Amino acid sequence: MNKVALVSGASRGIGRAVARQLAREGYAVCINYREREDKAAELASEIAAAGGRGMIYQADVAEPEAVEAMAAAVKARFGPVSLLVSNAGIAGQMLIQDVSESTWQRYFDVNVKGFRNCVQAVLPDMIRKKAGSIVSISSIWGLRGASMEATYSATKHAIIGLTKSLAMELAPSGIRVNCVAPGVIDTDMVQVLGEETLKELAEMTPLGRLGRPEEIAEAVAFLGSEKASFITGQVLTVDGGFSG
Ligand code: NAP
Repeated sequence: MNKVALVSGASRGIGRAVARQLAREGYAVCINYREREDKAAELASEIAAAGGRGMIYQADVAEPEAVEAMAAAVKARFGPVSLLVSNAGIAGQMLIQDVSESTWQRYFDVNVKGFRNCVQAVLPDMIRKKAGSIVSISSIWGLRGASMEATYSATKHAIIGLTKSLAMELAPSGIRVNCVAPGVIDTDMVQVLGEETLKELAEMTPLGRLGRPEEIAEAVAFLGSEKASFITGQVLTVDGGFSG
């Protein structure tokens, strides 16, 4: 099968590590980004220099038309997407009474609708081929509650619900759908928490440190691959023991 991966939110952090890992494993990779074209282009150059295939594409995953156009561009360049990694996400801390209508909407638009948009864009070809793999990225806060992060946590719970339902719906079409739930991973997203809180979170993690994006990438690559050919509808927690 032609190995073509679309990784949403791949300019930085976890998505970047996933795209790099998949390129190493022989996938042609679309590095999706929203703002940081410089970072996306830098990764594409790195992949090309290592003999891999990569392209960059700007699209806000919240916008269905933009995501459709992205899937079409990937198909034109590399062929239909065989592995979708729905990683793009936004997070932030606030009390529930401070969550405005627009903030609530934006979190759901990016984190949940973004996943749906990406799935809908790549699905017709996967169904036609009766093959394909989808990996979503939730969070440990998609498995339990998180104070000050109710909106984020709700979107991450929704991603798990969507993943499990899609796994049921798409299994007869030979498409597997799984999820990775990371613990606290050392990326830009968590830097806003500040050094002190990050130190505490590392101490609360049984393995005694924050996770690395590359450690999430390994789990994603496994679930996306044929090595996981009988696994669907599952959530793999990669959190250094945080959730016990
Ligand atoms: P990050 O460092 O903030 O990077 C976010 C990435 O997503 C960037 O590449 C960004 O693109 C992209 N992005 C954001 N909004 C987008 C949109 N609307 N459309 C397309 N791309 C968009 O985040 P991260 O820590 O790598 O997190 C990646 C995923 O893992 C998220 O779903 C997050 O919820 C989840 N997660 C993270 C942690 C953690 O501790 N870091 C833990 C659990 C789960 P630009 O560079 O162009 O802005």
